[in-house]
Amino acid sequence: MRPLIAGNWKMHGTLRDAAALAEAVRAGAPAGVDLLICPPFVHLHVVAAAMLGQPVAVGGQDCHAAAKGAHTGDVAAAMLRDVGATHVILGHSERRADHGETDAGVRAKAEAAIGAGLTPIICVGETLAQREAGEAEAVVAAQVKGSLPEGFLAADGVVAYEPVWAIGTGRTPTEADIAAIHAVLRGLTSPATRLLYGGSVKPANAKAILGLPHVDGALVGGASLVAADFLAIAGAAGP
Ligand code: PEP
Repeated sequence: MRPLIAGNWKMHGTLRDAAALAEAVRAGAPAGVDLLICPPFVHLHVVAAAMLGQPVAVGGQDCHAAAKGAHTGDVAAAMLRDVGATHVILGHSERRADHGETDAGVRAKAEAAIGAGLTPIICVGETLAQREAGEAEAVVAAQVKGSLPEGFLAADGVVAYEPVWAIGTGRTPTEADIAAIHAVLRGLTSPATRLLYGGSVKPANAKAILGLPHVDGALVGGASLVAADFLAIAGAAGP
């Protein structure tokens, strides 16, 4: 499967930073790898316009489950599509923690995203306490079952395994632990569903992680804010 390397820029930078970072990623995009960048909402239109026709896709970091309406501060999936996004990250652990997002809520957002023509990247992952209690596989399996819409198995969607304790910490699970979770994910999804690993992916560990069975790419946070690091990770995914 062609790998996907996705950058989650979270709530960082100015519009000028976003434009420069996108251009640096575009200029260095390696062959044989799909690249996706997910800027903050307010930067998305400008970045998507600059990437039009280029080998770098652009996505949102969230969307609302409703098509439109009185939802102050929220953004509909169709609005993301309208300004040039092709993907949307959903159910990131920071949103689950900061905004109380539930599996059912993520599922509703994913349905809205698919309905608007976006590819959802649905994030799942256990906390450190859950891993230490030996519950990681069961937690992730339950999140997948609760967060993926009916029919998702046949759709061109993406699932990202992001252990909460590995995000932004510099810590990663062992390769065996990543492979074990991805084997569970593969058993719950269609062979066409890309499975990403996310959590402290860096140029130094990318090759080993991306070489694991059923790891079809990476969702990258901190390292996606440095074009050279993001491109090095993408290069490690390439042929
Ligand atoms: C993320 O937040 O999706 C992520 C993977 O972050 P980081 O790479 O910084 O751990």
